[in-house]
Amino acid sequence: MRKRIIAGNWKMNETIDESVALASAIKSSLFEIDDPEVVLCPPFTSIARVGEIIYGTAIELGAQNMYWEQSGAYTGEISPPMLKALGCRYVILGHSERRGLFGETDAVVNRKIKACLENGLSPIVCVGETLEKREAGVTREIVSKQFTRSLAGISGEDIKRCVIAYEPIWAIGTGRTATPVQAQEVHAFIRSLIAESFGREAADEVRIQYGGSVNPDNAGGILSQPDIDGALVGGASLKAESFCRIVLS
Ligand code: PEP
Repeated sequence: MRKRIIAGNWKMNETIDESVALASAIKSSLFEIDDPEVVLCPPFTSIARVGEIIYGTAIELGAQNMYWEQSGAYTGEISPPMLKALGCRYVILGHSERRGLFGETDAVVNRKIKACLENGLSPIVCVGETLEKREAGVTREIVSKQFTRSLAGISGEDIKRCVIAYEPIWAIGTGRTATPVQAQEVHAFIRSLIAESFGREAADEVRIQYGGSVNPDNAGGILSQPDIDGALVGGASLKAESFCRIVLS
């Protein structure tokens, strides 16, 4: 049985004071919840403070990106041990904003995933197609390519520590969400890719989140699908009330 996982991707939002207020409000509603698993992914500058606030609860901490080296002359970058030391358990990798705005290729994402796993962190690996590709009918080809290249060389054991996030780019921050049926179709396809590359047992264990304009009104329908094991939430994770309603839906 896969435990659902709902992660809030705060992106480049929330100063430290704002993060403290948001995390405190979320904690006051969710401190007793351990199913679904809840993950907060604040900007780097707020991770330490948010970690202090959720300490002692089942709420987990995540980062939105990292570099693959352990330390050294990489100005502006953050390493896996730095995130570990802050108490992070998850790292979002290959988000479409990183791929699209910062030129991250599947090869870069693959190096980051390997470093993440080697350092005892769990990657939330994002894949998803543009509107143009969906309309061209090549969603499966795009998702399959991203999946295969990003996860090349990962072992059958390590894949079980990965979370896959299916995030159609046309649904991110647009208010236009995939229907439950559209999302389920791609999630089932991703699970078949996991089975092909890593075996049936892994495919049954790996959690696949949906991301793209999830809100309290559409979460129930999306999360009721058999291959959808949670949500990666952007905009709606910035309001405690809407994020908590998604978690509790
Ligand atoms: C995201 O950025 O991962 C995301 C899903 O954003 P939103 O929920 O705002 O579409």
